[in-house]
Amino acid sequence: MSARAETAWLPPGGRTPLTLLIGEQAGTRQGIKRLLWTLPSYAFAMMVLWVGQWAGVVDLHDALVVSLYSLLGLVVFYGLIRSGLSLRTKEPTLALPHVLFSITTVALSYVIIEVARPMALQWLCLILMFDMRRLTARQSMGAAFFGLSLTTAAVLVSHQMGWTTVEPMAEWINGSIAAVSVPVLLVVARTGYRLRHQMFKQREQLAETLSEVQRLSIRDGLTGAFNRAHAQGQLEEEARRQQRHRRPFSLALLDIDHFKRVNDTHGHAVGDAVLKAFVALIQQAVSSVQPLARWGGEEFLLLMPECDLDSAMRVLAHVQQAVDSHDWGLVSPGLSVSFSAGVCQHDGLSSLSITLERADLALYQAKAQGRHRVMAAPLS
Ligand code: GH3
Ligand code: MG
Ligand code: MG
Repeated sequence: MSARAETAWLPPGGRTPLTLLIGEQAGTRQGIKRLLWTLPSYAFAMMVLWVGQWAGVVDLHDALVVSLYSLLGLVVFYGLIRSGLSLRTKEPTLALPHVLFSITTVALSYVIIEVARPMALQWLCLILMFDMRRLTARQSMGAAFFGLSLTTAAVLVSHQMGWTTVEPMAEWINGSIAAVSVPVLLVVARTGYRLRHQMFKQREQLAETLSEVQRLSIRDGLTGAFNRAHAQGQLEEEARRQQRHRRPFSLALLDIDHFKRVNDTHGHAVGDAVLKAFVALIQQAVSSVQPLARWGGEEFLLLMPECDLDSAMRVLAHVQQAVDSHDWGLVSPGLSVSFSAGVCQHDGLSSLSITLERADLALYQAKAQGRHRVMAAPLS
């Protein structure tokens, strides 16, 4: 079959039969899905009804009335939701109107089908439980009250009119049991639902807190750069990778020049703002796989995986250009910021601490030679 023939049955806009059935808007989809979920219980009730009819205990006329009434309700609710009309209401799944409609079905069955009476209480509970999370406590109680009074009124009226046979004592017992058990059941179910909801919420909050704690445990609070402990771990991991794959990596120690003077002249708050802006600038200038850590005070460590000394020096030149071209006057009038750095390639023969010492020595030389420069540690 050609691709054209395969898609020819699809409606315009690439919509599938499923989207045609349940719609595209989130509210409409929710409503249709809820409606579809009610279908099995409808199907079950209808099956019981028609088995009763087949067995001769339910009148054909009564079975038809109840079936058509339920079907009509489903079609109307589907139409209201699928057309988008329900989106204009506060609760687009139309749970409450549908619950009330289903209760009228129960009342109708109760009145006209005598053998269905013992099922009515369970059916009423099922309807109310199904929409527990969509209805407020007051709505559920109101719907229960509506169900009990509608059934009672319908029985009384049809008895008066002689439409149905009623056994007063049995009805009284049925009604009393329902009047007590439905509200009690609703309260118990709602408490259970609330507890479950609370538990889910607490679990969500716990997960959020945990991820925040994890984030904080590896980051420096002021600048958001990784902290020294985390950087140490990253360095060790990188050194192990270097051993396995024999790929070079480099690191740089960057130290802001005359930072004490920044604090003394512009104040500690400006000093803090400089540290934050410095980190943000570097993070923008380097790749996301080159982590920056606050090594201490105004000193930072930049890890450059898979970079030999030459490429690391190019990265640092780029960083220097970003810091030099930044308008530091925006942070505080008259402010200028520069840094010095020592760059070193880890050769894999010596230990990490030796590599760090060599980078530190290169940084010291950069400071000694007048600052505002990047020095490479010679390859050993
Ligand atoms: P050099 O060019 O030799 O690096 O000179 P320097 O002034 O930058 O270095 P020094 O070590 O003398 O001073 C570093 C200063 O950084 C001293 C300290 O108060 C300041 N500092 C360290 N941490 C912070 C911080 O979190 N906020 C602020 N505002 N200042 C800090
Ligand atoms: Mg400094
Ligand atoms: Mg320093």
